Amino acid sequence: MSKNIIVSNRLPVQAESKDGEWFFTPTSGGLATGLKSFHSEGKSLWVGWPGISSDSLDKKSKRQINENLLDKQFCPVFLNEKELDDFYFGFSNKCLWPLFHYFIEIHKFDLIQWQSYIEVNQKFADEVLKVVKDGDKVWIHDYQLLLCPQMVKDINPNVTIGFFLHIPFPSFEIFRIFAKREELLKGMLGADLIGFHTYDYERHFLSSVKRILNLEVNFNIILHQGREIVVNTFPMGIDFKKFEEAARKNLRISPNSSALKRQINTHKLANEGKLILSIDRLDYTKGILNRLLAFERFLDTNPEYHDKIRLVMLAVPSRSKVPQYKILKRQTDEVVGRINGKFASVNWTPVWYYYRSMPFENLIDLYVSSDVAMITPLRDGMNLVAKEYLATRINNDGVLILSELAGASKELSQAISVNPFDIEQLSQAIKTAVEMPLKDQKERNIILRNRIKRYDINKWSSNFIDTLSETSKKEFTSKVKLVTPVIAKKIVKSYQESKKRLLLLDYDGTLIGFHENPEKVVPPKPLLDLLENLSSHENTDVVIMSGRTYTFLDKYFTGLNLTLVAEHGLYLKQKDGDWHKKKGLSNKWIEHLLPVLNTFTDNTPGTFIEHKTNSLSWHYRKADPELGTQRAVELKTVLKSLLPNDLTLMDGNKVLELIPSNINKGTSALDLINKKKYDFCLAAGDDITDESMFSSLPPRSYKIKVGKKKTSAKHYTRNIDQLLELLKLMNNSEIKKEISIK
Ligand code: UDP
Repeated sequence: MSKNIIVSNRLPVQAESKDGEWFFTPTSGGLATGLKSFHSEGKSLWVGWPGISSDSLDKKSKRQINENLLDKQFCPVFLNEKELDDFYFGFSNKCLWPLFHYFIEIHKFDLIQWQSYIEVNQKFADEVLKVVKDGDKVWIHDYQLLLCPQMVKDINPNVTIGFFLHIPFPSFEIFRIFAKREELLKGMLGADLIGFHTYDYERHFLSSVKRILNLEVNFNIILHQGREIVVNTFPMGIDFKKFEEAARKNLRISPNSSALKRQINTHKLANEGKLILSIDRLDYTKGILNRLLAFERFLDTNPEYHDKIRLVMLAVPSRSKVPQYKILKRQTDEVVGRINGKFASVNWTPVWYYYRSMPFENLIDLYVSSDVAMITPLRDGMNLVAKEYLATRINNDGVLILSELAGASKELSQAISVNPFDIEQLSQAIKTAVEMPLKDQKERNIILRNRIKRYDINKWSSNFIDTLSETSKKEFTSKVKLVTPVIAKKIVKSYQESKKRLLLLDYDGTLIGFHENPEKVVPPKPLLDLLENLSSHENTDVVIMSGRTYTFLDKYFTGLNLTLVAEHGLYLKQKDGDWHKKKGLSNKWIEHLLPVLNTFTDNTPGTFIEHKTNSLSWHYRKADPELGTQRAVELKTVLKSLLPNDLTLMDGNKVLELIPSNINKGTSALDLINKKKYDFCLAAGDDITDESMFSSLPPRSYKIKVGKKKTSAKHYTRNIDQLLELLKLMNNSEIKKEISIK
């Protein structure tokens, strides 16, 4: 039976020793809170760091931790002090975290830390590979492990991998600054399903994939190495029930049940005081300083609220080893001190400031007693505190002020939405919130609470896992089958046993990869040797079926005993023969349509026209991917209205081609097939122009698409290398046959 494996930087427990015994206490934090319920369902394993540096652990301690954790279905990844400094505090939190949150000036790229990031990601991947079995599902989390999906996929392609990013994915213009941008994207693309909190992050990611890796993207599906990678939005929810029940219980028990609650109630009873709540990790992304400045401004401009309003600010210590966090701590202390110094009276301190984390019960005390929650991050992947506050509002009262730059704002549109950089607007929002009529509060909260109740943490995780399962099922039930070793063996056997063989091979994208300047790339010697060897087999015809010009094919392939088809079939050269051009074609149409193509080329930077003898190609692979695709759609519409009957418009891989209708690879293939009685036909191609070739083949032929794309072929290879492997196997089988005959 297959299992689920969760992989995250930290396990949701903290290992601690006392008197030689090991204890494991549950940790706080968005992710830990979020996945706990999924993991406790059983069957699953959780791989992660146990929260203690391995420098302080001897062999015995490690063994004890291992055994203890395995009982709880946790697999520890041990990290030493240096790795924690370089991989976690260094690369993850000095480089990736600020960059992904748009703090460009803070982010620092360091090559040593990058190396450590690679090594630690490999460590996590190795741990997964130790426990994973074919058919298992692996769910990898967050920005510390961006390279891990590819590292697992490379070694075991038979596991289904999901990846979820809990922080924002920045816009392409930000992401492009990062030194190792290709590596990070490729790392993530090891996954079969990639999830983000919001559609904005999803489209930023797709935009980077298109622009940086130049990959084909159809809606939310990326084609990469013959795999279809699905990208989608899954806004993370909270354990709604837990917070709602805790709030219900909290309201039932005495108002004096805790010191904190007593304090709060004293304030609220005096002068009908209002309480504004602020909870976050002390992080520069959370907008803590702006929030304080806005509160100060509110007090400056609304003196009638002095003595009546209080900001309760819980700042949870975080990453205090990173200098930027130390600076923020100092600044926060200063501003809180200044506000309290400026406004405090004998009976009133405007800001209650706690720099620590609070136990769950106290957190609930704060949530249920606050009239307003002010959640105003400068950037935040989601923000669970906003949702938790709402879950505790069981009487539907209370007001949420929410930054439009928090992922949660996409779902919580009935909150007071603010731009966290606009101090004046924030101050106004405080006034609106404290003066909002109860009826209005209730109307908003009923809708908000309904949303987070329905799409809670369980819905979020099951939605992700279900989508992941569908992704793996789709691969299994797809009509186009992957050329597996078993299928390759079958093809080779049939090749060996046949008497007259025909191999029809497209060139670009099938035998050789795409390049910036294809005309300048010389076919590699091993490829030429392979083709020559195959064509030297008895009764074997090898044909290059290309869209390239005959001059190109002539230059590199003449002398290899191959049949050559150039410009999609306009030119043909039989082995040992001369080039022949198809007759009866006029070029008149070119002078009519060329001006149209020229206009589009002028208007679309990066596009260019390729002139061939009897065809025109408009290439847009070097243009901005979105603009290129958009202009191609427009150009297609214009050309279709002008197209004469004997001209075909072909929509290729980032190219539109105008070709006379009687010229295509299909008719050329048919001409060749009809000449001899072949009992083995194999055609391989990657592009739409190869589809006509597939259609013209006799029923029992092998049709192979390179890359997993829409096709009428029966089989596909993941990439060019896999096709070349198959051709090599065919070649070797013949060598073996010769040896055994001798
Ligand atoms: N939290 C906690 N103890 C505290 C303060 C907060 O456990 O003293 C929890 C809070 O309930 C929430 C999480 O920490 O579940 C913070 O998640 P959020 O998405 O708001 O921010 P993150 O820390 O992930 O950036």
